[in-house]
Amino acid sequence: MTNFTTTQSSSLLMDDPQGPGYPARPPSFPYEGCSDYPSSEYGIPANLESLVHTSETKTPDGEIGTYRHHRAQNCVDELAAVRQVYETLDAGNPNGKHLQLDGCRKNAWFARQKDTGIVKVFSSACRLRWCPMCAKSKQAYITRSTSEWLKTVGYPKLLTLTILHTELPLSEQIDNLYGYFKRLRKRKAFSKKVDGGVWFFQVKISKIDGLWHPHLHCLISGLSIAHSTIKRIWKEVSFTSEIVDIRSIKDKDNAARHVARYAARPSELINLDIDKRLELVEAMHGRRLVGTWGNARSVSLKPPKSDDHEDWESVGSWSIVTGLLENDARARKIFNAWKNSLELPAGVTCKPVDDFIAEEYIWGSERPPPGEYQHTFFEDN
Ligand SMILES: [Zn+2]
Repeated sequence: MTNFTTTQSSSLLMDDPQGPGYPARPPSFPYEGCSDYPSSEYGIPANLESLVHTSETKTPDGEIGTYRHHRAQNCVDELAAVRQVYETLDAGNPNGKHLQLDGCRKNAWFARQKDTGIVKVFSSACRLRWCPMCAKSKQAYITRSTSEWLKTVGYPKLLTLTILHTELPLSEQIDNLYGYFKRLRKRKAFSKKVDGGVWFFQVKISKIDGLWHPHLHCLISGLSIAHSTIKRIWKEVSFTSEIVDIRSIKDKDNAARHVARYAARPSELINLDIDKRLELVEAMHGRRLVGTWGNARSVSLKPPKSDDHEDWESVGSWSIVTGLLENDARARKIFNAWKNSLELPAGVTCKPVDDFIAEEYIWGSERPPPGEYQHTFFEDN
């Protein structure tokens, strides 16, 4: 039986200053909207000053950073490794991808679904392939859609196909691997037994010889197929490699989770030196990392674009809500509704504070643009 495991990287918090996106001085105004501060009695709430001056906010339970801090907690080192690659490839471009990466999950806001009172956090997303935060979101979606498909098929199996290690450029090796795989699926001895499947590309550096180790994991359905048969066909189509593995799947959810880790990123860059990182990112440019065939063609690999933005309303930016937690009942209600999946009653909002800041300091706004109240990524909460 396959022992599926998942790995996580460092939990160190990254350094992520808000930069110039916040006002240099706290707003000097009586504000309305958050119930603990009646506008006629209070000027600047004490913690609003610290809020607009720092990227860190505090709660009664401890520290809460920016939303980006929250999302990046388990991938700080990977994020740094990815940034180094994009910065190198950007070669001084002032609008390069490393800056898109820096903006990922930076602006975030709480939104309430008008009908149900459900609260979610929506945010900016860079959607760069190697961004670990965007990859995690994509992985969650593919895990779910793949699990759903696995549950509909009998006797699913995990097939792993590898090629011999060589010193050929990685790009060439991937061309070969994908080509062999295409030929495998066309072989009658294979296609009459295997109804379809979902494939995922993964690549590592071999600990034995230091060479690239590209391979494919496939979740397949169909009749039983002998290891010796697969081995023979793979050798015929790849000319050299007999290295295949096939095993039954006992835990379908775990199997989907295991392979979907590669669906968005075929490798963690932190494990590679900078030259290998660059070679990998360039070799994978424009290539698919995951695909379906046969009876798995219906498996969705990309979240459909949501058109439910009319159903959601902003109830405050991440900075404002988390910054007011200690002193504002509405902020606490919003935060707790999000954290504990509770219903938030209509009318509980910190949006007026955001509105004020947006009016006074346009460049300090951390709010969705009009029409952006929608799911831009999957299971980011
Ligand atoms: Zn991202």
